[in-house]
Amino acid sequence: MKFTFIFGLILISAMAYADDVWLKGASVVDPLTKTIKKTDLHLVNGKVRRGTAPKAATAKVRIIDLAGKWIIPGLYDMHVHATFGNPGPGQSYQVAPPSEIAKIVLYAGVTGFLDLFAAEEEIFFAREQTRKDPKYADIYAAGPMFTCTKGHGTDLGRPTRVVNTPKEAEVQVRELAAKKPDAIKISMDRNIGPVLDMPTLKATIETARKLGIKNIVHIGTWADADDALRAGADVITHLGWTDVPDATLALMKEKKVMEIPTMTYQTELLHILENRRLLNAPLLLGMIPADLLAGYRGMDVPDRFTAHELEIQIRGRASFPVSLKKIVAAGIPVISGTDAGDLGVFHGYSIHREMSLLVDAGATTWDALASATSRAKAFLKRPLGIGEGELADLVVLGGNPIEDIANTQLVEKVFHRGVEIDRGAAVAGLKLSAK
Ligand SMILES: [Zn+2]
Repeated sequence: MKFTFIFGLILISAMAYADDVWLKGASVVDPLTKTIKKTDLHLVNGKVRRGTAPKAATAKVRIIDLAGKWIIPGLYDMHVHATFGNPGPGQSYQVAPPSEIAKIVLYAGVTGFLDLFAAEEEIFFAREQTRKDPKYADIYAAGPMFTCTKGHGTDLGRPTRVVNTPKEAEVQVRELAAKKPDAIKISMDRNIGPVLDMPTLKATIETARKLGIKNIVHIGTWADADDALRAGADVITHLGWTDVPDATLALMKEKKVMEIPTMTYQTELLHILENRRLLNAPLLLGMIPADLLAGYRGMDVPDRFTAHELEIQIRGRASFPVSLKKIVAAGIPVISGTDAGDLGVFHGYSIHREMSLLVDAGATTWDALASATSRAKAFLKRPLGIGEGELADLVVLGGNPIEDIANTQLVEKVFHRGVEIDRGAAVAGLKLSAK
């Protein structure tokens, strides 16, 4: 017994910090200072140390020559549904538990994500189960959605939290807070059903705030956004299906809200329908089962659910980019999140598309990179991953992402908690299951 115990400890510590490695000669891209500097990084005990790499490796210290390469902080996807797997049109569906999703996304340089709706027991268990193990991306989770009777969230066939009065809101937020959610998610969607009344919405937000928990509000219409803003939303996620009204935009600015637009979810299925070459991106091909992609290639005759999603995207297509352009131009801080777990979105890969769609809407490449790194991590109070003394989470790229944001897809190496990820092994367990 004693032997097993000690042996187990040795294994754990070896697993946690296997690497003592110098990354030599790369250009380090820092979205906080908007600078690119050739800097050697020493990853030791999971942390970043800056300095000058030694001339030669030793038995204990590796040197990786990264001349001509770029280093960015590990990417974060701030709107995912890790328990939903990767759905596809027709009968294709990639089912994977959230821990498996946390493994797969590292292939694409995603070192952490925020889950914004899941059965709370399942997602909080996965978060604890994978915590601090470098071979899983870091899971952050909100758990359920707070909604009202018959409101959006009750229609998804999963347990959620229904609150109809300020008193109920207070009780339920306190109950969830005991499980330490990383944020709370509130659903306000007049496109789908009734929404929380203002006193209940305010009580939900204020109870969470008293307990030190930030909120993210799902909106379906701009009227939902107006309510959320007046009640004290920290972050709004999604865009309404019409052009954002000037009054809403002004309120967003006044209230200093942040926005997670989920452009991938709102537009990408239609983009794929119209341009199947989008499915040929090497990063996507490397991490998604071919059968699942075949479902997308063959969606000229969509099944009922796919047709329904396409209809929504066609309805909103004129307005989604217009609203995002206005939000970017108004200087409202955008955080990247994809809504992975929905059709047209792929866990891991799609954060790269989200950044590109943000640049298409007028954001600078620096801003797009910040949306998936520094700004996302600041919300979660997580270190950036490339600074002196910080927990090392970083991605080595074969191209400069500031010249072209699509270069973030040229992922060559991923380091998570200071350990180099075996990217092949991360996606080796990929399986496709029928619906
Ligand atoms: Zn979502």
